[in-house]
Amino acid sequence: MEPISPEQRQALEALYQRVETRAADISGSHDWWPCRRGCDHCCRHLSAPLPLTELEWRYLWEGFQRLPEHVQAEVRARVAELERSGASRPYTCPFLDREAGACRVYAHRPLACRSYGFAAARDGGRWCHFITDLLARHGDGDIVWANQDSLEETVASLGGPTSTLFEWFAAHR
Ligand code: SF4
Ligand code: SF4
Repeated sequence: MEPISPEQRQALEALYQRVETRAADISGSHDWWPCRRGCDHCCRHLSAPLPLTELEWRYLWEGFQRLPEHVQAEVRARVAELERSGASRPYTCPFLDREAGACRVYAHRPLACRSYGFAAARDGGRWCHFITDLLARHGDGDIVWANQDSLEETVASLGGPTSTLFEWFAAHR
């Protein structure tokens, strides 16, 4: 696999940082914000098997390859099991450490995982029912959401065709 060029890396990390800054601002200014390590409901309820651009996969793959071999094998086994079972929705992400409720490739996780809970799109918010319930109580008038449409357009413009979890793992055995 070709390494990520410095320009591509800089552009992708700048995009990720844009989301992280917004997320930190929202959660830092609302002490009731629920997203935190150990809250893994969203990672257990994926609506699709991580369709990512090639650049996002290559970036995530750097994190995957840093995992101990036995953990890589466990992730691969979970991907295979999901595919074998017909992978009915919702999916539990194979990169989730189920005991810790934490992402095993956290520093390399894709845009969708960074923006979920902190972004709104033209057709509505991208967040879970925990957040919906809390917003009903606290209101959202002072929240500056990340712009999901703009983030998605940018990540699509940065790199390569999209492939799913199954397609990527099949191509990288
Ligand atoms: S989006 Fe919802 S499920 Fe995911 S971390 Fe935030 S509160 Fe938890
Ligand atoms: S890549 Fe990480 S953050 Fe994203 S769904 Fe999977 S476990 Fe959750």
